[in-house]
Amino acid sequence: MPAAQKVGIVGAGVGGLVLATRLADAGIEVEVLEKSSGATALGSGITLQGNALRIFRELGVWPEILRKGYAFDTLGLRAPGPEATVLAVLDDVRVGGEDLPATLGMFRPDLAAILTERARNAGAVVCYGASVNSLSRHDDGVTARLDDGGVRHYDLLVGADGLNSRVRAAIGITERPRRTGMGIWRAFVARPDEVTRTDLYYGGPAYIAGYCPTGPDTMYAYLVEDAQERNPQEGPAVMAALAAAYGGPWNEIRRHLENGANVNYTHFTTHIVSGPWHSGRVALLGDAAHSCPPTIAQGAAMAAEDASVLADEIIAAMEFDEDVFRRYWQRRAERARTVVEASVQLGDWMLDHSPEADVPGLMHRVAETVIVPV
Ligand SMILES: Cc1cc2nc3c(=O)[nH]c(=O)nc-3n(C[C@H](O)[C@H](O)[C@H](O)COP(=O)(O)OP(=O)(O)OC[C@H]3O[C@@H](n4cnc5c(N)ncnc54)[C@H](O)[C@@H]3O)c2cc1C
Repeated sequence: MPAAQKVGIVGAGVGGLVLATRLADAGIEVEVLEKSSGATALGSGITLQGNALRIFRELGVWPEILRKGYAFDTLGLRAPGPEATVLAVLDDVRVGGEDLPATLGMFRPDLAAILTERARNAGAVVCYGASVNSLSRHDDGVTARLDDGGVRHYDLLVGADGLNSRVRAAIGITERPRRTGMGIWRAFVARPDEVTRTDLYYGGPAYIAGYCPTGPDTMYAYLVEDAQERNPQEGPAVMAALAAAYGGPWNEIRRHLENGANVNYTHFTTHIVSGPWHSGRVALLGDAAHSCPPTIAQGAAMAAEDASVLADEIIAAMEFDEDVFRRYWQRRAERARTVVEASVQLGDWMLDHSPEADVPGLMHRVAETVIVPV
């Protein structure tokens, strides 16, 4: 029987829910503490690569994800300007294995709902409105104190609480995300029939203009620019003005923007905790431990992989000592660093207008890394 009888997980994002499901399936009592009031993930769409899909298949939720999302295997490169000339259509590497698509776009709340239901069916308790404020650590467990005064005790606690992790700070890790210099506008809109894969347009007023289908009727579109303080209220108008430089499906996207589509703006950030991702009986995973700008769309995959590896180690541990968490970190650190550094490098090349940029070489290295199952 695993040494950990009761595990607390802070955060019901992709990483927290994958971990909750794996542990609950193994008979461990799991409580997920989530500060938001329900299973509604912020943001619009998400692009999931094959290595994320492989983890979802292992959890048994792949059929449902495939039904809700939009799968595709190619990437288009198009030129800015009214013609939107297709410069190339590249075969994407199926990094999750030949029997899974290379990429799947999805509406974030649909993904959150599927993973939450799966975790609950496994027996995990997901508590909403439970914002963790502070931790105290003991030799044989961890106590979490909530903003509302609630107190919970666990054998182990995992911080899956995202970029601005309080758990990370509570265990004395001071590394934090830094801005990389880019900002992204995203809009969730109706899918024109001609959008059947992601196309990227390099050049024009944005570093990247792109879109990703997320279901039969939906897609999200994005524009990456120099980071600046933007007023979200002006989002649709600003995004429509930038989008005027792009043709093809952008003509219809622009009409949605002019009609006030839902738009948000986010700064790109990055960090990686350089030492072990734990202290005593508390460990970190996903964005709490490392984050990358979404230039390669690997953040959710990395969180899901972390969760899967951490679950293996917790389930296998017949007694708990720090080596359980150390082994997890040793299995994850280099792979996560490869993805984080490549994601940052891609952005830096664009910011520097670097003639040295070897984008195909870099993408090949990332694919060679993440194609190996964890
Ligand atoms: C603009 C943008 C676009 C992106 N696009 C993609 C993409 O296309 N593909 C991709 O793979 N990745 C993408 N990412 C990255 C991806 O969203 C993250 O890497 C991924 O969501 C990390 O998952 P996580 O479970 O670690 O954390 P999160 O998904 O951030 O979940 C953390 C959870 O913890 C909760 N929480 C936080 N603090 C507390 C607290 N104190 N108490 C209780 N709960 C708490 C939060 O409410 C949240 O639900 C993008 C990121 C950005 C910024």
